[in-house]
Amino acid sequence: MSSPPSGCFTTLANFFTPSSSSAEISTSPPPVSNITTKAPLPSPPPSTSSSFPPDLKPPVESFPLTKSSKILIVGGGGTMGSSTALHLARRGYSDITILDVFPIPSTQAAGYDLNKIAGGGENTGMRGKLLGKIMDGWRNDPVFSPYYHEVGRITGAHSSPEKIAALREVYERGHRDGWGTSSEWLSSPEEIIAKFPQLDKADLKNWQGLYSPDSGWVEAKDTIASIGRELARLGVKSSFGPSGTFKAPILDSTGKRCIGIETEDGTKWEADRVVLACGAWTPTLIDLKGQCVSKCWVIGHLQLTEEEQKKYKGCPVIYHDEFGFFFEPREDSGIMKLCNEMPGFTRVLDHQTPFGAPPGGVSLSVPRSHAVHPTDTIPEGTVDDIKRLIDTLIPEFSGRELIDQKMCWCTDTADAEWLFTEDPRWKGLFLATGDSGHSFHTIPYVGSEIADMLEGKLSPEKRKAWGWRPGAGDPNHTGRGGPPPLDLSEVDGWVGEDPEEQV
Ligand code: FAD
Repeated sequence: MSSPPSGCFTTLANFFTPSSSSAEISTSPPPVSNITTKAPLPSPPPSTSSSFPPDLKPPVESFPLTKSSKILIVGGGGTMGSSTALHLARRGYSDITILDVFPIPSTQAAGYDLNKIAGGGENTGMRGKLLGKIMDGWRNDPVFSPYYHEVGRITGAHSSPEKIAALREVYERGHRDGWGTSSEWLSSPEEIIAKFPQLDKADLKNWQGLYSPDSGWVEAKDTIASIGRELARLGVKSSFGPSGTFKAPILDSTGKRCIGIETEDGTKWEADRVVLACGAWTPTLIDLKGQCVSKCWVIGHLQLTEEEQKKYKGCPVIYHDEFGFFFEPREDSGIMKLCNEMPGFTRVLDHQTPFGAPPGGVSLSVPRSHAVHPTDTIPEGTVDDIKRLIDTLIPEFSGRELIDQKMCWCTDTADAEWLFTEDPRWKGLFLATGDSGHSFHTIPYVGSEIADMLEGKLSPEKRKAWGWRPGAGDPNHTGRGGPPPLDLSEVDGWVGEDPEEQV
């Protein structure tokens, strides 16, 4: 088992902000395999907090946000956290610190991946309205543009007239509403193959498709690393390992304002604003009252030969909600990433004690980090799913070993909208989570919305969509189609060499 690095950037267990020991951001974190420190696994924090002495801090109202406010971004090595730090730094905030279990790009982040789909092609919910700004970042911002590959995307449907009609409706809506005017309808397998000639051996019987030329894929972990370099250039501070691992918020004497956080090593970080952007781990750290349920999805890879790599170079991303999706091979390694499509798996454990949980704790789906358990693979059924994807679309790779299998964790809200809000229980603590499995593509821009939240600038429409909303729905079923997710305890074949950590 490998463990989180032990305080890559050591901080003094100082009562106040350990600014003297904060460090510049590492832009070349050690690979997981090099992390040998046997620090204990990050565990859910107890429902207790440390307090600064009474009257040390004035009441919340006299804490206006200024450009020199001390801002802590917890989970700053991941997708939303790094984007938030970038946007705040670009707005001129001068005292930003990112904290994370792992150095940026955090190897346990959902964003730590070879590729993610990005670009046009669909436009749902509040996120959809941000498409123009997101794409401006991918195309024109030097921090992001080197990592965007606009190879196009084909979304397929075939199994029923209803499925095809639903996809056709997306195509028509895109043209009608102006966000998908470049998309084309592919009404036959031949038209699909004309866009993606490498599918000439695929079983595309009854397939029709939506082709979105303004879409493609992004080099995911490389993008977060690029943000990390920019944060270092902009003077953002960081601490990773136990000194960056959230344990509990620190509240003032009223118990109603968050004035910092305590990390696993006992460091107490003072802050004027705390942003909690811990992705699938967020509900295990703070009791979110059931607003988010964390689930994992699976990833497998194929190693292609040089010749195969050349053959698939520049092919579009192909997605089908009954088969899954895959990407062109990476130029640096010849590795092709493939995913199935499914409702995700939970890992529900009882008696969990996120901060603010009632006595006795709560049952929660708790992520199991692949960075901490690198020998975990993926459930048997999902291997079969990915094999079916290969057999159907790229049969020349049938039977080839599926390498680097891993599970990747996100957290769903009931309506797939973000949870971007100041926690109504503790002033100064801001939640930036609820990615709902669709948020990597927003990384060039999402931090701007989170910065707006801190500055109190979110529109009423956004505050409503992304606000605190316990009881508004059941995130176990989510806005996704299909059945509710299975629990990992119900499926076999994925546990690695850490049996004591089994579900
Ligand atoms: P993360 O990126 O996971 O970041 C959370 C951070 O919090 C991590 O760095 C973690 O180390 C840190 N953290 C955790 N606990 C603590 C703690 N106690 N203290 C400090 N830090 C902590 N999206 C797309 O747009 N396109 C796609 O094609 C796509 N494909 C996907 C495929 C799969 C298989 C999966 C699983 C997801 C996919 N997504 C995709 C979704 C996307 O990856 C997520 O929506 C997004 O990355 C989530 O960002 P986040 O910042 O909320 O979480």
